[in-house]
Amino acid sequence: MISDWQLVVGLEVHAQLLTRSKIFCGCPTAFGGEPNTHVCPVCLGMPGVLPALNRQVVEFAVRAGLALGCSIQEKSVFARKNYFYPDLPKGYQVSQYELPICLGGGVEFTLDGADRRVRLTRIHMEEDAGKNLHGVSADGSSGVDLNRAGVPLIEIVSEPDIRSIDEAVEVLKALRAVLMYLGVNDGNLEEGSFRCDANVSVMPVGSTVLGTRCELKNMNSFRFLRQAIEYEVKRQVEILEGGGKIVQETRLFDPQRGETRSMRSKEEAHDYRYFPEPDLPPVRVPAAWVEEIRRSLPELPRARAARYQRDLSLSAYDAGVLTADRETAEFFDATLAARGGGAEAAKRVANLLNGEVARLANESALAPSSWKLTPAALGGVVRLADQGVIGGPGVRQVIEELFRDGGDPEAVVAARGLAQVSDESAVEAAADAVLAASPAEVERYRAGNQKLIGFLVGQVMKAMKGKGNPAVVNAVLKRKLEGGR
Ligand code: ADP
Ligand code: MG
Ligand code: ZN
Repeated sequence: MISDWQLVVGLEVHAQLLTRSKIFCGCPTAFGGEPNTHVCPVCLGMPGVLPALNRQVVEFAVRAGLALGCSIQEKSVFARKNYFYPDLPKGYQVSQYELPICLGGGVEFTLDGADRRVRLTRIHMEEDAGKNLHGVSADGSSGVDLNRAGVPLIEIVSEPDIRSIDEAVEVLKALRAVLMYLGVNDGNLEEGSFRCDANVSVMPVGSTVLGTRCELKNMNSFRFLRQAIEYEVKRQVEILEGGGKIVQETRLFDPQRGETRSMRSKEEAHDYRYFPEPDLPPVRVPAAWVEEIRRSLPELPRARAARYQRDLSLSAYDAGVLTADRETAEFFDATLAARGGGAEAAKRVANLLNGEVARLANESALAPSSWKLTPAALGGVVRLADQGVIGGPGVRQVIEELFRDGGDPEAVVAARGLAQVSDESAVEAAADAVLAASPAEVERYRAGNQKLIGFLVGQVMKAMKGKGNPAVVNAVLKRKLEGGR
């Protein structure tokens, strides 16, 4: 039975660094482009060329390492990882092996309300390979696109500390958020600029001896990661319970079938015949540079979420959603600054951002930087709501319009006639009419059935075409029902 087995996962994440040029040449790193247009003799792997290390790659790797609590190595060394594949014209990938740039560290995340940490083994720098394109020419033959060859990556390797699928997903989300906050990676799983391999094994519950693992590749969404591990656990448990053995191998997740398939048997390190890259000197990162980079780190998502809970009394949930990406958090801060005010305003802004605005953003698949709704405008909406100028339905309509067309909230309220009626005499006139038309309800209310106020409020709102200020309507009705006139 599956419940007799303990899942163990270790992650290897390849994150493309957001440098403008490649790691060892000046070619652009831009995604896409006509095949083989972002190339030069260096990234094409021509004989006789020499690589020159892009300083920004080192800086970004150190940034990531510092944010993840790694120890930054003063000296690290590039190594050749030899293997033969059409998308790798040199026949080797320049990576780091024995002496990577970062050691140790960890990813902090929250699971079921508890703070957790998964240890990292290392972070190293390497170049990306090209891409094989199948069936691209008129005769159906394959081609190789080397635009991606030489794009800088960091590989982040975790210890096999992860014990559940939820944990694997949360670790990966937290890691992605950190890299995006740092501005070193765009977090795009679909385009493959943030790629994750999951090493999966199972062992009997209670055991401390790790089982044989399989490495799962090609999971370009959090949903696929979940499905792939789920499938893999079932597969491994079935084999082990049938008396079989797990073969260490690399398996590919097929999203169409929801299953993993064997791709190749796992290479051992010696198969790669690693040796130090003779064309590059060791990388030196002086302590002063590390400190300079440390000082430039932004506030990270978890620190920000903690601050929102501490200073603005937001719930852990609200704080988590708001800080999941840096743009949303910055939009929130800017909105709050525009509105002014403390915890109460913060809660309102958080509700709108995580509710109505998030819904519209999801529908349009737009990031905050490309919204037409500005923080100043959203701050204005909150102010109008706080002043009672617009009620719930009005707020929704204004936000919808501002999100679609941009503009100024007060102008939208005026143009659409969304202001609610707070004028007592107008409300009283409507209330009098409703009370006169509902003698039975009035009598039952006065006999003690106070719940009927809801019905009466509804009637007044209906009479006022939904524009009555609910607080005023309530107060006027109460006064009239409780004897006063
Ligand atoms: P390789 O270089 O062959 O990929 P590593 O020792 O670097 O091997 O391990 C790679 C990944 O596999 C790491 O993320 C590690 O946590 C994970 N891992 C190692 N052993 C296991 C295991 N028994 N079960 C699950 N994951 C494992
Ligand atoms: Mg590996
Ligand atoms: Zn190049």
